[in-house]
Amino acid sequence: MEILDKIIEILEGIKEPKTGQSITLLKMIRDLKVENENIYLNIYLPSSDYPFKSELYSAIHDLLNKEFPLHKVHAHFVNKSAFSEAPNLLLPQIKNFIAIASGKGGVGKSTCSVNLAIALQKLGLTVGLLDCDLYGPSLPTMLGIQSLRPKVQNIQSQNKLVPIEVHGIPSLSLGNIIEPEQAVVLRGPRLAAIIKQFFQDALWPDLDYLVIDLPPGTGDVQLTLVQTIPLTGAVIVTTPQQVAVIDAIKASNMFLMDQIAVPVLGVVENMSWFQPSDMPDKKYYLFGEGGGERLAELTESSFFGKIPIIEKIRERADSGKVFEVNSDEIYGKIYLEIAERIHKKVTLRNMMMMPTKKVEQA
Ligand code: ADP
Repeated sequence: MEILDKIIEILEGIKEPKTGQSITLLKMIRDLKVENENIYLNIYLPSSDYPFKSELYSAIHDLLNKEFPLHKVHAHFVNKSAFSEAPNLLLPQIKNFIAIASGKGGVGKSTCSVNLAIALQKLGLTVGLLDCDLYGPSLPTMLGIQSLRPKVQNIQSQNKLVPIEVHGIPSLSLGNIIEPEQAVVLRGPRLAAIIKQFFQDALWPDLDYLVIDLPPGTGDVQLTLVQTIPLTGAVIVTTPQQVAVIDAIKASNMFLMDQIAVPVLGVVENMSWFQPSDMPDKKYYLFGEGGGERLAELTESSFFGKIPIIEKIRERADSGKVFEVNSDEIYGKIYLEIAERIHKKVTLRNMMMMPTKKVEQA
């Protein structure tokens, strides 16, 4: 793993000259493989007459050779557009769709979605938030935007929703569109139509990440989602106890099914221990220990980290002040470290695995 970490770091630091963006973020590096003393990778060019071909080749070759003098670097060009990838025709301006999932409700999935989106933004990435937890949309509360309604813009005689921007993060939630009481009565086809609208009829800007808060468990929303966009990967949130982990395995298995084939990137363990604010050195393991790591092992994914139960996290989330938690030195760091691990895993996923394909409707 160590060598891969170093390779990511080196490649991430190389900027595509025209856009100034990292070549890894632009998904120009694919098919990465390290075998014995060989590093294989393909460089996907945006066009056949791409002017910075040799410049990029030298940068990649030289930097990798310098870091790994005992390895042989095999870098080849692939003349296939890295920018207009076929599987994501609907929203090509969004580079990564990350679903935040859980086995059951109340484990802190929405709180994690919002805080991780903010933390990813702190890493210098452009991030949007989509609340697909249609039965209990809590994103507007956490962002403190319950009273706002998304604007509607008419483009080529079609009405489009403009995501509501909070601290530079565009967001959409059913909670900003209808009253919460109305949401609970939504069923199958209506749900599917709303999910589709969030993608097809919304004006999302260029984003490195769209963080998608899913409803707990497996159901219509999850299915519609994978039929609408190619999910880059899923992050599973669980609490440490056995019962939560059992449900979380079911949620993970849905993504891993052959027909769906969305990679489970890893696991975040929330509510790992209780940490009283007046005794920050004390840790009470209210829900047991080790569930998150076990889930990561069982799903052969990464363990991204643990978040303790902290009064301030709940207080700030419930009163629309999540940004405050993230600027707190201690709590903010917890989310930032997890976001760093997620970003690294996504970068690696994009370099080593094929892009996800949208699931075709039967
Ligand atoms: P879910 O989306 O899984 O249903 P939520 O994110 O809505 O769960 O969280 C449920 C409740 O737990 C909320 O009141 C939230 O503020 C609180 N909560 C979540 N994570 C933590 C944490 N680490 N510490 C304290 N409270 C938390």
